[in-house]
This record gives sequence, C-alpha cells and structure tokens, in this order.
Amino acid sequence: MSGREQNAGLSDFRLTVRRWLHENLPPDWVDAEFAPNWPPSDDDPDAVEISRRWHRRLHEGGWLAPSWPEEWGGAGLDLGRRMILDDELARARAPLPIGFSGIETLGPALIRFGTNEQKSRFLAPILRAEELWCQGYSEPDAGSDLASLRTRAQRVGDDYVVTGRKVWTSYGGRADWCFLLARTGGGGRHGISFLLVDMATPGVQWNKIRQLHGETHFGELVLDEARVPVSMRVGEEGDGWRIATHSLSHERMMSGNGPGPVRARLTALQGMARATGAGPVERQEIARLECRLRGLEGLAAGALRLAETGDPRLGAWASMVKLAASEIRVSIAEVAARIVGPALAASGPSYRATGHVRGSGPELWAWELLDSRAGPIYAGTNQIQRNIIGEIGLGLPR
Ligand SMILES: Cc1cc2nc3c(=O)[nH]c(=O)nc-3n(C[C@H](O)[C@H](O)[C@H](O)COP(=O)(O)OP(=O)(O)OC[C@H]3O[C@@H](n4cnc5c(N)ncnc54)[C@H](O)[C@@H]3O)c2cc1C
Repeated sequence: MSGREQNAGLSDFRLTVRRWLHENLPPDWVDAEFAPNWPPSDDDPDAVEISRRWHRRLHEGGWLAPSWPEEWGGAGLDLGRRMILDDELARARAPLPIGFSGIETLGPALIRFGTNEQKSRFLAPILRAEELWCQGYSEPDAGSDLASLRTRAQRVGDDYVVTGRKVWTSYGGRADWCFLLARTGGGGRHGISFLLVDMATPGVQWNKIRQLHGETHFGELVLDEARVPVSMRVGEEGDGWRIATHSLSHERMMSGNGPGPVRARLTALQGMARATGAGPVERQEIARLECRLRGLEGLAAGALRLAETGDPRLGAWASMVKLAASEIRVSIAEVAARIVGPALAASGPSYRATGHVRGSGPELWAWELLDSRAGPIYAGTNQIQRNIIGEIGLGLPR
C-alpha cells in the first residue's frame, strides 16, 4: 500500500471515530471542563455512573482496549490508529472508562504472562466493566524502593496466606479485585510474586484516605491472613517483579499519563488567556508551554512505536513521557494560578467550574494546582524516572 493510500486510510479512520463519538457521546456525559481522561471520584456518584456507562458503550462500539489483541476482545489497533483514537477522545472530552486500571495496566500483563484460564476468567469482565481492579504495589515503607516490600504470602496447601499493608491504593473503594505484589521468597526482587486478590476475601480491608483537595481517591489496603488460591498467581512464583515492571511501563504510557489531558489543560489555559487577558510574562510562558507540549506529543508517538515492536527501550521512553507530561501539567497550573490571581485563594478547589468562559473558574484552577502535584509522584516519582532514563536509557553509572 502506498504512503498516500495509508494516509487516506488514517483520515477515513479519524472520520469514522469522530462520527461514532458524535453519535454515541451524549453532551451531558462530556467530561467536566478540561478533565478528559480523568478518573471520576467516589465522592461524585453521578460521574462514576457516567464513566461506567461510557466504558460499556466504548466496548459495544469496539473502541475499548485499543492495544489488546482482537482475540481477547480488544480493538487490536495499530500505532497510527491508537493515536488518532486517543486524540479524538481527548478532543471530544470523553470521560475515562471506569475500568481504566484493568484495561491499561493489568490487561496487558495478563495477556502476556497469564494462563489461558486466567485470561478467559478475567479479561471479558474487565471489558464489560463487571469487575473493577485496583493496584496494590506501594507499602508504607516501600514506594520508590518497591523491591523492599514486606507483604508476605505464605504457601499453605493450595492457597497463599497473605498478610501485610498496602497504601495509596487508588480507587480501592470501588474495586472488586486487586492485583498486588507479595513476598513469597527471600529478600529483593527475586522473592516477589504477582497475585490476583478478590477484595471480598475475608481478611481484606480498605480504608479511605482524604487528599489535599478533599477527595478520597486512594486508601490503605490491609491484608490479615487473607487466603488467595495459588491459581490466582500470575507467572511463576518469584516472577512478580518482571510482570510488575511490564505493567508499570504500560501504566506510564496510559492515556491519562500522556499528552492528551495536558493538551486539554493547555487549551483551557490559552482560552482563558485570550478571554480574560494575560500579562506579557504569562504570554511568553504559554508559548513556551506550547513548545514543550509539542515535544511531548512527539515523544509519546515514539514510545508507542517502541511498545508496538516490543522494543526493550520502551521503559526509558515511557519514563520520559510520564516525566514531561507531569511537569508540563504542573507548569500549566502555576501559570493559570497567576492569571486567576487572588480569586484562586478565595475559592475552594472543585473540578466543576462555574466560570462562563470554559476553564476560567477559579475553583477549577485551585483544584488543578493541588491535583497536578500528584503527577510527579504516582506511577513512580519523577526522580525515579530520571534514574531510569539515566541508567537504562543513557547508560550512565547508577
Ligand atoms: C495520586 C496517587 C495515586 C497512587 N496510586 C497508587 C496505586 O493505585 N497503587 C500503588 O501501589 N501505589 C500508588 N501510589 C503510590 C506511588 O506509587 C508512590 O507514592 C510512589 O512510588 C513514591 O513512593 P513513596 O510515596 O513511598 O515515596 P518515597 O519512595 O519514600 O520517596 C520520597 C522521596 O524520595 C525520592 N527518592 C526515593 N528514592 C530515590 C532514589 N533512589 N533516587 C532519587 N530520589 C529518590 C522520591 O523521588 C521522593 O521525592 C499513588 C500515589 C499517588 C500520589
């Protein structure tokens, strides 16, 4: 096929996606202001319900799980089409499907490392949003240094007896299952296994934690002699580190950690600057942010290409995307806060703005100023991403 024919194929694809979104995304489901691809908070049950219905609608339309092979119910899209789909979803300000963690983090790991029984059991309920997943990696004394985790899984007959404490478990309050790491052997990376744990198991408890802006997005997961069947282990015993690393590079590549939501925020900032005016320093900064974001968009395209071919450099590239996206998002919020001025401090944070110019509500930018601070921490802190880029990407000494 000639380049021109391929391009024609891609433009047709874009039109198909756009038409489908026009026909299937009801105006009152469009995400609040500039928060596309942002998970709804449990404090907002209407948004949770919309996100669940949107997940199912995407699945019925064949657009959910773009990177999963068709054999397992995914869209099986190639790189160009995935990027177009992400771009159109962000432009339409579509909500994030409720099961994003199962789709984007667990799914790729199960498809690569799971048994056929595990894939048959778990992938379809993820696609139908019948089972939601949370991620139990971090512990009070094991965040960046994840390999020092202490949650223990002791083999007793056909079960593991799991005891330990996980923290910052996002959306654990509505999750049915948790994929977690537990120690089945000695210290370090080689003694860790990857387990699938039913949140309804006796001995599993989730306690919510309230965040800076008042929402309760994450919590603490306490496991007290919870029995998990050995058949719920993914991969071999002791192989959990390799599986978690694979899932983390997909998490960093998740649309929510990529350029889409950053573009939506910069568009809102530019709209506000046009409508309400901005000083010369802010205008310079907005131009600089546009350049940084265009660089990020190119970087993300390169990373997706590596993901398609299974290139081992993906880890370092995914780190660069996550690092740049989270830093640009913080800078956007800081410039916006300067333009909004003292009204920002006077309003409480909320991601539903009341300003009549889209994206100009002070409460929205107050929320963004606080929420954007999470980006450089979750999915591995930005200092850790710099270590990965330096050591793995550039071959610098540890
Ligand atoms: C919004 C949000 C959602 C989250 N959701 C989840 C979730 O769903 N599941 C889950 O398992 N975890 C989740 N996390 C936890 C997250 O992965 C950890 O917070 C993160 O890995 C950092 O670990 P820590 O908080 O223990 O900080 P620490 O590891 O104690 O780090 C403290 C500081 O030291 C720096 N530092 C540590 N080691 C190094 C080093 N070697 N070189 C340079 N600097 C270093 C860090 O960059 C950081 O600035 C979430 C966190 C946030 C903020």
